[in-house]
Amino acid sequence: MVPQQLPPTTDAQSGEVEGTLGTLEQILSATKGTNAVQTRSADQASNSKKRHQSCQGCVYKGLVAASLQDPVNRFRAKMSRWNLHLSSKHHYIPGNVRQQTPLWQASRAQWLLANLKNLVPPRVQSASFSLIWNRWCTAHRFQKQEFCKLGCGCEDGDRIEHYVKCKITKEVMRRKLNINPDTYATLHTFCLATPHISDTRLLCIISLLTYGLYTATNKIRHNPRGSRGWSTHDATEAVVQAVREGAKGHPHALKTLRSCWTTPQDGRDIAPPPLSPFAPKIARLRTLWHERQAAAKRRRCEFR
Ligand SMILES: [Zn+2]
Repeated sequence: MVPQQLPPTTDAQSGEVEGTLGTLEQILSATKGTNAVQTRSADQASNSKKRHQSCQGCVYKGLVAASLQDPVNRFRAKMSRWNLHLSSKHHYIPGNVRQQTPLWQASRAQWLLANLKNLVPPRVQSASFSLIWNRWCTAHRFQKQEFCKLGCGCEDGDRIEHYVKCKITKEVMRRKLNINPDTYATLHTFCLATPHISDTRLLCIISLLTYGLYTATNKIRHNPRGSRGWSTHDATEAVVQAVREGAKGHPHALKTLRSCWTTPQDGRDIAPPPLSPFAPKIARLRTLWHERQAAAKRRRCEFR
């Protein structure tokens, strides 16, 4: 027997649920649980409990599905402020034409961030996520201008756009992490929106450096003396120490950090992301487009 009313637990929000998902009959008929509920109508007590559970499950899944947002679109919206695809904002944009589009950059960042889960501790993942989301508490974020906290002397340097290419960051990359700063000291690298991060070793090191910069600048920001009197070496050591603290207690991150200068590297290639549900349709459209181009070319040749 199909219940005619929503269970008591959802009575208060029944209007909202019905407005979003439809009536209870429509919700139950759209799920596989409908038949199971109907066929067990003989045992009323058991049926009532199962009906209640089934209905709650249906409503919960329906509400989550109704408010679900595509993660890549969310990344794209949040990353739009970095203008990673504009050559007027960045003197170098890595990748080919397709890899320089906002959609590709957003999907790459989302996929690499998802790959981080087994490589580094959650605090390091959080630092990378915070950078992409522009959550670092820099002066620039609060519409203020302050000097770079790492003491490089850059005016208006307390901003993410500066820290990713600060000379201290480049020094840490070159001397401590064995990464070429000419290629990797860019906002694209730290936003994980670059094709150059192709293996897990590099992904792990970049995220650890992100954590190091985040932690070091935060500590200096809350220190009354700041980085006054620091040399380049002092600032570099502060960032390296923060990087070490990021890897602390995590076997894989520690192993990767210790093997920066050893060969051969033990990283593995990052697998491509799973195909989207629209991939077959896009492939069909692409084939159609190629067929039409070929037909148009043949017609032009016949006309000549
Ligand atoms: Zn700086």
